[in-house]
Amino acid sequence: MELLKTMSASPDQDFSDIRSEVAKLCQKFPGEYWRRLDREMAYPTEFVEALTEAGYLSALIPEQYGGAGLTLSGAAAILEEIQLQGCNGGACHAQMYIMGALLRHGSEAQKQKYLPKIASGELRLQAFGVTEPTSGTDTTSIKTFAKRDGDDYIINGQKVWTSRAEHSDLMLLLARTTPKDQVEKRSRGLSVFIVDMNRAKQDGLTIKPIRTMMNHATTEVFFDNVRVPAANLVGDEGMGFRYILSGMNAERILIGAECVGDAKWFIGKAKDYAGDRSVFGRPIGQNQGVQFPIAKAYADMRAAELMVKEAAGLFEAGDDCGAEANMAKMLAADAAWDAANVCVQTHGGFGFAEEYDVERKFRETRLYQVAPISTNLILSYIAEHVLGLPRSY
Ligand SMILES: Cc1cc2nc3c(=O)[nH]c(=O)nc-3n(C[C@H](O)[C@H](O)[C@H](O)COP(=O)(O)OP(=O)(O)OC[C@H]3O[C@@H](n4cnc5c(N)ncnc54)[C@H](O)[C@@H]3O)c2cc1C
Repeated sequence: MELLKTMSASPDQDFSDIRSEVAKLCQKFPGEYWRRLDREMAYPTEFVEALTEAGYLSALIPEQYGGAGLTLSGAAAILEEIQLQGCNGGACHAQMYIMGALLRHGSEAQKQKYLPKIASGELRLQAFGVTEPTSGTDTTSIKTFAKRDGDDYIINGQKVWTSRAEHSDLMLLLARTTPKDQVEKRSRGLSVFIVDMNRAKQDGLTIKPIRTMMNHATTEVFFDNVRVPAANLVGDEGMGFRYILSGMNAERILIGAECVGDAKWFIGKAKDYAGDRSVFGRPIGQNQGVQFPIAKAYADMRAAELMVKEAAGLFEAGDDCGAEANMAKMLAADAAWDAANVCVQTHGGFGFAEEYDVERKFRETRLYQVAPISTNLILSYIAEHVLGLPRSY
């Protein structure tokens, strides 16, 4: 398949060297590899190890801690290229953005202890425990509680959709440290912890896999009197919600970049098939009914790509990018999903056949309408914070 690349107004910002190295690595993990894992619901350990070894997952860790010290745009280029090559960064993308909370709000001792080992691959920081079954998107209503006890906190509660928990050494956990009815603002009284999962598994932490429509290694995690040293509290007690929020813009932009990569993959695949497949004595792509949806998907992808770039630029300049990061994620997720649908339609019956990889990617890309934040919540953000309309929830 001829891959769909796009030009930038500033080609020096395209990270083309990094992209071509990532592409070479990804070519070692072709469709058959992902199809087998999908059938077995297995984790792409070899792929994640190869990315770690090449230093891509430590892209955002500063050089002084052993990382590559790239900008967010550099990290976005890596994730976009992974998706564009037909691979799945969802198996490991969280390491890039979870690490931001530690970097921005952790103590120097915590950074020295963890970041070099994360950069070298000795420690995997893949698990991010925020969502809970009873609170959903209403994060400040989480119930998992961390109670101070001498030099430790004792943690009780349950998380859901904690992806990659079985393939991670550390978890970044959000828990309440002051009950919601005892804080002046509901966003206060929440704290962030680094949980050593191997130790916690010996001490009350249980992980249960959840089978999903795509292969995503997601789980439920139960905390039953799990002790975590107070030294593993990130930043100040009670301020954790702010720390998590500060990482969310980076997360939205990186996921947006992945969705742009997915959209390019679907559009490239649809374009090739439309050119190759002949019915009624001519290529199906000669029919406007077939070519227009692909062209529309391309235009939508380009618009989303520009918004991802805009958001990343603002983020790197240290400017407020909440609106752009949210819009980038929403537009890119929509562009990927629309392109996925067009790709299936263009392939006709073959869109449903496993060997074309289209149906697998179709299932994978559907996630980003819901996670890490659903479209409705992004629209609420824009309505309230950009347009000044009344808060709806
Ligand atoms: C495969 C997968 C992996 C995930 N990985 C992680 C992870 O690693 N760590 C983690 O912490 N979480 C993870 N999540 C959780 C994900 O972030 C949540 O599923 C998502 O934020 C939505 O929360 P919810 O599922 O509880 O939906 P709910 O909050 O119950 O919402 C259900 C629906 O109602 C809509 N809705 C809710 N409130 C409003 C409102 N006020 N206005 C309009 N619409 C509203 C939502 O948009 C949504 O469509 C993952 C989820 C999935 C499916």
